[in-house]
Amino acid sequence: MARVAIIGLGNMGGGMAANLAKAGHTVRAFDLSEDALIRAEAAGCTRGTSAPDAAQDAEAVVTMLPAGTHVASVYDELYAVLAPDTLLIDCSTIDVATARRVAEAAAAKGFVAVDAPVSGGIAAAAAGTLTFMVGGTDAGFDRAKPLLDDMGKAVIRAGGNGAGQAAKMCNNMLLGATMIATCEAFVMAQKLGLDPQAFYDIASVSSGQSWSTTSYCPVPGVGPTTPADNDYKGGFATALMLKDLRLAMAAAADANAATPMGSRAAELYEAFAAEGNGAVDFSGIIRTL
Ligand code: NAD
Repeated sequence: MARVAIIGLGNMGGGMAANLAKAGHTVRAFDLSEDALIRAEAAGCTRGTSAPDAAQDAEAVVTMLPAGTHVASVYDELYAVLAPDTLLIDCSTIDVATARRVAEAAAAKGFVAVDAPVSGGIAAAAAGTLTFMVGGTDAGFDRAKPLLDDMGKAVIRAGGNGAGQAAKMCNNMLLGATMIATCEAFVMAQKLGLDPQAFYDIASVSSGQSWSTTSYCPVPGVGPTTPADNDYKGGFATALMLKDLRLAMAAAADANAATPMGSRAAELYEAFAAEGNGAVDFSGIIRTL
């Protein structure tokens, strides 16, 4: 069992901290929010008074923060206090360029850093069933994997530093585009006189099948229980999908990759969010069709 610091105890980090403590690690936690710290203490963590205070004796530091700027500034605060050879594991969804830059800066100071963004939402963070996509060296991956195993159901190496974030961008761009295509197909099927259940039964075992249809059907009352059955509340907020699509578009521009479907998905989610739907589940975009 390891001494682990976790910084960022929000919707995702709170559940992850609880699972690290449950697995028997000594977990010291920090967040800017007092409520988050109280929840982490109740889950078996001790509280740090600052990010450096939480991290100073740690063998590994897990960050689960909103964006790249937060990760870079927290890492800058930590370098003065980290024990030699501390492993830095950033699980936040951030841009590929920042992920590579912070890993290089960490390596220059003698620390090993990996990017390990997640798939799976708040429920998976709480249940310890996240999927981690990891970018880093072989040694970094081997050290991070046992800790990530305690918070997830799958830990997959994507490649070198930044590759985890690249995989996350590509996956969520695919998800955004297939969700909109799924919504379009169900609305069109209905307008052509098809029963949504009949179309679900056919599409879920035919070549149009996707996760957006079979696991996250945007039509209420069809397929497994999803946010569509709860008035599009809960689930994966449109604001977070939009954040990921913006990151994907920035990565595509950097890589000179043509992404006409991803670009269109980003535009449609921009418009949906601008109409006051940022907190609505991303499958709620069906209502605009
Ligand atoms: P959140 O806003 O609920 O939590 C972020 C936490 O970071 C907050 O509690 C905030 O107080 C804390 N924080 C910000 N700056 C800090 C600092 N300098 N020091 C310490 N704490 C600080 O966000 P979340 O939903 O938990 O998401 C975290 C990351 O996970 C994001 O990058 C997000 O894109 C990604 N993600 C979220 C989901 C999801 O469904 N929510 C799914 C996959 C990935």
